[in-house]
Amino acid sequence: MDLLKTLVEKGLRRELPTREEARAVLETSDDELLDVVAAAGKVRRHWFGRRVKLNYLVNLKSGLCPEDCSYCSQRLGSKAEILKYTWLKPEEAASAAAAGLKGGAKRVCLVASGRGPTDRDVDRVSQTISAIKDEHADVEVCACLGLLSEGQADRLQAAGADAYNHNLNTSEETYKDICTTHTFEDRRETVRQAQTAGLSACSGLIAGMGESDEDLVDVVFSLRELDPDSVPVNFLIPFDGTPLADEWNLTPQRAMRILAMVRFVCPDAEVRLAGGREVHLRSLQPLALHVVNSIFLGDYLTSEGQAGQADLDMIADAGFEVEGAGTTTLPEHRSEELVSVRRRGAGTALPPNA
Ligand code: SF4
Repeated sequence: MDLLKTLVEKGLRRELPTREEARAVLETSDDELLDVVAAAGKVRRHWFGRRVKLNYLVNLKSGLCPEDCSYCSQRLGSKAEILKYTWLKPEEAASAAAAGLKGGAKRVCLVASGRGPTDRDVDRVSQTISAIKDEHADVEVCACLGLLSEGQADRLQAAGADAYNHNLNTSEETYKDICTTHTFEDRRETVRQAQTAGLSACSGLIAGMGESDEDLVDVVFSLRELDPDSVPVNFLIPFDGTPLADEWNLTPQRAMRILAMVRFVCPDAEVRLAGGREVHLRSLQPLALHVVNSIFLGDYLTSEGQAGQADLDMIADAGFEVEGAGTTTLPEHRSEELVSVRRRGAGTALPPNA
């Protein structure tokens, strides 16, 4: 297919496909699915070889959010029967993180529900980052705390955070349909703040919320414009007790096409297979490893994933390898941004990381 040949050539050159080419990937037929995966796989292997990065979520604060994101089980008024608790203590969070690191995770994602952190919350998270890094010096820590106020990204960076996650989720056009308490622009601004502070930006989407192909292309092009280092692709988990509880509209084949489209538009970004992979990709999960180069290990924020060992077996069986702590995830032209300047130990008032 000429389309796929063009997309591979552009992907290897990190050249942006046209919107029509991106949409055409979503419109391919099931007969063409393996050709689409093979083409996206060429781009994936060019930038990331056969490595799979494992990420581990720690939900620092669960539920009780005042925002109304309709896809979220932690939203205002959610009737979903999820765990609800306030901030984990730094040592509790560090012990939760240790479980994921033992399983091979390279990045720990510290997530808290809420519109955004107070300065006291940033202090709390800073202590948590220290508690984790004091035990595991090599781990990458990503914070995901909602909308940031001025100066908070700098403080997180100074505290040792390597990355900040804030997803765009859906197209600018339809954002108001999934959330009324903040805007698409609020989200985009937080990603920019993280980048300005020198944090590696992580920003992605949620597919399966009733959006059109055009919306998916829109959000992925908005992401490419922001140019985050990692792009998590979530598939809606329609929780009972949330407004989107009945949105079961993805097939495994459609989920694969969406992943491939993201790979072609963001060829050298860490494309991460995120929430909902088990319920939507089902037995096609191993095939998705040919397109993505990163997954979450184990459980999600409020729902359970497949057993960590099953993830590791799947990676090995599919002929991929877990990316070790000594390997740099991103291609050279991006990875320099991940180096953190030392801000503790000799020459500072803070204890050394030893
Ligand atoms: S996505 Fe975040 S901000 Fe929105 S309701 Fe859920 S926890 Fe709150």
